Amino acid sequence: MQDKATPGILGTEAYWQAASEGRLLIKRCRACGQAHFYPRDICPHCLSADTEWIESGGTGSLYSYSRVVRGSDDWTIAFVRLDEGVTMMSNVVDCDPAQLRVGLPVSVVFRPAAGGHVVPMFRPAEQV
Ligand SMILES: [Zn+2]
Repeated sequence: MQDKATPGILGTEAYWQAASEGRLLIKRCRACGQAHFYPRDICPHCLSADTEWIESGGTGSLYSYSRVVRGSDDWTIAFVRLDEGVTMMSNVVDCDPAQLRVGLPVSVVFRPAAGGHVVPMFRPAEQV
């Protein structure tokens, strides 16, 4: 089961483990203080290797989004700007796509995905 919970991207095991527990982790650099996403061991801002995991509050806003329609399936791919200042690509769920707009406040939800792991997705925050 462990291999299903941790898709094989080196260094992201903690991220996937936290997601399976309903927590969203991002990385922050101890040298320059900036957060980054996707998680990397080397800070993309200052190239320091002194990075740490922090737990995101899981709230942010829609930076951009696109609805994908394929046959009877449709889903919304989005870039979400977390309050910690990083942008992550995800899906928006539990909403009418017509209600979405850039800047809409969103909050994280965790959904099982194909392959057995749990993936952070987002929904409009006021819908909680
Ligand atoms: Zn840094």
